[in-house]
Amino acid sequence: MLKRVLLVDDEAAMLTALQRQLRLTEYEVLVAGSAREALDILATTEVQVVVSDVRMPEMTGDELMTRIKQQYPDVVGVLLTGYAELDVVIRVLNEGAVFRYLQKPWEPDDLLKCLHDAFVCWQERQQVSDQHAYLENHEHALLETDAEGRTLYANQKACQLLNLTAEVAGVPLEEVLPMLRPEQLLYLSSSEQRQLEAQDNTNGQMLRISSQALHNQRRMFRIEQLFELDTLAIPNLLSRQELLYQLDRLLRSSDAPVTIIYLDINGFRRFNDSLGYQQADQLLATVATKLMAGKPDGASLGRMSGDEFALFIAGGYSTLDICHQLEEMLQPFSDLVYFSGRELHVAFRAGFAQSPDDGADAGELLRNAQVSANTASRGGRRNMVRYSNRMNANDSEFVSLQSDLYRSLERDQLFVLYQPKVSMPDGRIAGAEALLRWEHATKGVISPAVFIPMAEENGLIDTIGDWVLAAASAQKRVWEAQGLPDFVLSVNLSGRQLEDDALLERVQDLIHQNSLHASQIELEITETFLMQDISHSLGLLKELKALGVRLAIDDFGTGYSSLNYLHQLPVDTLKIDRSFITGLGVNREAFELVKNIIHMSHDMGKQVVAEGVETREQLDILTGLNCDEIQGFFFSPPVSADQFRKLLENQPLIMLDVVT
Ligand code: C2E
Ligand code: MG
Ligand code: MG
Repeated sequence: MLKRVLLVDDEAAMLTALQRQLRLTEYEVLVAGSAREALDILATTEVQVVVSDVRMPEMTGDELMTRIKQQYPDVVGVLLTGYAELDVVIRVLNEGAVFRYLQKPWEPDDLLKCLHDAFVCWQERQQVSDQHAYLENHEHALLETDAEGRTLYANQKACQLLNLTAEVAGVPLEEVLPMLRPEQLLYLSSSEQRQLEAQDNTNGQMLRISSQALHNQRRMFRIEQLFELDTLAIPNLLSRQELLYQLDRLLRSSDAPVTIIYLDINGFRRFNDSLGYQQADQLLATVATKLMAGKPDGASLGRMSGDEFALFIAGGYSTLDICHQLEEMLQPFSDLVYFSGRELHVAFRAGFAQSPDDGADAGELLRNAQVSANTASRGGRRNMVRYSNRMNANDSEFVSLQSDLYRSLERDQLFVLYQPKVSMPDGRIAGAEALLRWEHATKGVISPAVFIPMAEENGLIDTIGDWVLAAASAQKRVWEAQGLPDFVLSVNLSGRQLEDDALLERVQDLIHQNSLHASQIELEITETFLMQDISHSLGLLKELKALGVRLAIDDFGTGYSSLNYLHQLPVDTLKIDRSFITGLGVNREAFELVKNIIHMSHDMGKQVVAEGVETREQLDILTGLNCDEIQGFFFSPPVSADQFRKLLENQPLIMLDVVT
């Protein structure tokens, strides 16, 4: 370490004399002709010891030392003084602003001895302030008390945990500890246990206090926070660690079954993207508060990670029971959630596991509940899956499938099928939907319902989605070049693709490259995605619409839709979900629903496509309801481009007398 001394005197001759005395020593010497100049040097240069004359114009040496003590408490001050100023010097000495003084005239050895001591003093100060900083910033809460248990000191963490102000000196420890917030449970280990046991019942189990005797009979209490509080800071919302700990205790305390439910917010990434992380965190806090309020009595709720929650409750329940409980708990989310001027739709995937059948310990049970939530479809509240052993086996299969998917493009394993949409009642092909397929080397053809969610998860969807758009656009161009009849080609877009800023440009380029008419391209977007954050979707759709393409809402009826919003969305087509079409001719509800959707869409000037029409009866009902277009196996399954050309050449597809 470089030892620097700053000499301050208004008399140049004096400075020169001092410098001479220090010439052959280990010290680096800086000089200042006034107190001001000295302060300027201190502001930019690290100096350990300042030696100053007392009598100087403008600012005297003692005033300088007082200033230095305030601004640079570690710097050690030495004053050079004549007899006349001795009382002033003694005052600053007593105030601690000056370490020592030298009375003029001094012996050179005295000066060297004094400087040596001053540097030792600097080092000690350094250690003390290091120690202070060490205690102050320690990750554990530290409380220091004297032998009688009166508090002398509390570091930052202790103040924060115990809700204390820094001024705790003199307060008895017994008064400090009950200040623990109710959710901070006190856990006592060590020999102090007996002494502090009284706190245990009232405060539960979050902190562990242990003590160590310090010198002078003082004691240092170390308070460990056993669990980090959840960062959302919702009262009683457990952190992951804490939930594991409590679940573990419950499992150990009895052999009775315990049920663990895992909840995962659908597509939370989307909220992160559109709201930004800070707001998305606030949304999580809103969600957590609602979950907390609705959870079953006696259940403990915790946040497992970002957007995943888990709760556990003593007892074994049937799947039905759990569905009922969950339905109640998630009731507030059946409506849109008002959040920061937006209306958002928050939906969950859920799964559960039960001890002792589904896992041996807390960790395994939670993991398995999570696995089962992952396998639940994103369909909503009623979709509740209990863990089964097969799921983990599926997991490893899933992982290898994921890695195969990465290679599917370069191995040329993806291809597109086309399914006609037939306009009613003339039976002509008004459109076709491009549907992706994956021909796996060993597993055969894999459904997009399996690998699209995978691709969304690992980010491949952008590449794959691009590929489908390009392949379908190029195919459309081929058909046009062959002089085949016009029709609208639809391509499915996943929510994630819509978040990609490059999408607009990409669509525009493809239309241009293939010399297509934008109005003959339709993009299908699922209703669940659109309704998650309506104001955000509205902006996106407007931009897409500006390209001149058609827009369709896919799987209509499965997500939460409000007519108000539908009215605002610039979409051309609604595609009624297959689940409602299946109900036609079977139950009245489905009929009423489909009827209403068709009427309402027509009122709003939108077209309606019925998906998954398989029977003559469904077709007849839909024709009777004025449905515009029919898509389904009744006319044709998805077929290869070549086969589709034949369909185009053999219009109209009148197969109305086919009995199915
Ligand atoms: P979707 O867009 O709702 O497509 C309609 C699905 O219904 C297709 O399933 C189609 O084969 C099937 N279908 C059509 N008519 C009938 C019928 O009469 N009966 C029955 N049972 N099913 C019928 P597919 O091809 O397995 O696709 C499933 C889903 O995968 C699609 O649902 C779509 O959401 C997604 N998908 C397919 N291709 C793509 C793609 O290129 N990109 C994206 N992002 N998603 C795609
Ligand atoms: Mg579709
Ligand atoms: Mg659909």
